Amino acid sequence: MNETELTFCEVLGCDRLSLYLNKDYILNKDEGSRLSLALRKRALGQPLQYILGRTEFMGLTFKLTPDVLIPRPETELLVETALKIVRKFASSQVRKLKILDLGTGSGCIAVSLAKSLPEAKIYASDISAGALEVAKENAALNKVNIEFMQSDLFSNYPLSAIRYPLIISNPPYIPTEEIDKLQPEIRYEPKVALDGGSDGVFFFRRIIKESPPHLARGGLLVMEMGFNQEKSIKNIFQNSPDFEIIEVVKDYNGIERVIVAKKV
Ligand code: GLN
Repeated sequence: MNETELTFCEVLGCDRLSLYLNKDYILNKDEGSRLSLALRKRALGQPLQYILGRTEFMGLTFKLTPDVLIPRPETELLVETALKIVRKFASSQVRKLKILDLGTGSGCIAVSLAKSLPEAKIYASDISAGALEVAKENAALNKVNIEFMQSDLFSNYPLSAIRYPLIISNPPYIPTEEIDKLQPEIRYEPKVALDGGSDGVFFFRRIIKESPPHLARGGLLVMEMGFNQEKSIKNIFQNSPDFEIIEVVKDYNGIERVIVAKKV
């Protein structure tokens, strides 16, 4: 559906087909004012997903508020890569598989993994209490069980805890200076979910440094990266004694988007 169709369907509470079958329908006052409010917000640059309060990701519905990043199609590639790895390397152990989603935001990654791997145990953390609230609602909405924790990466993390065979993350990766140059919709998204520091790879540096004690031996770190970041992220990995890069996956635009590394 395009944006106009989505907006009308939301306001009228109907599906796309009825929209076209009832072309002569005259909006009542309430529908008219709700529609013009939605259109006004959109005209100001508010992303449609925040206006509607939800989006689709991996075929599932997610509730959204401006506390969380709007899930992107590229992130589906991250989830698909993780699922492929799990099925290839760990198919016999899925029952015991523990996966941590670092910086879960809306929970889109954790919830889709939980949905596809019902026997795995999924954990998710975020620094933002507001984001965790949304992620919890999304777990309930999609009827999955996830263990949520508030933490700045591993800082508030129970250290005695688990060693994960798989840690997944779509960290903030936009260089600070570039955020304001991107399309105006981005300004409505939480800065904390976008800002990757002056060179954009601040969180990759931290995750690569801080994750080894939390990864099982042979455990995998699967991360989404931004445009043109492959080289610097590979560099960070190569300077770390703990990891070996095993795969880089390109997205549909031919951009290196997902990196997979193994704890040696
Ligand atoms: N994990 C969430 C997502 O991929 C949020 C990521 C983030 O806030 N940087 O959409």
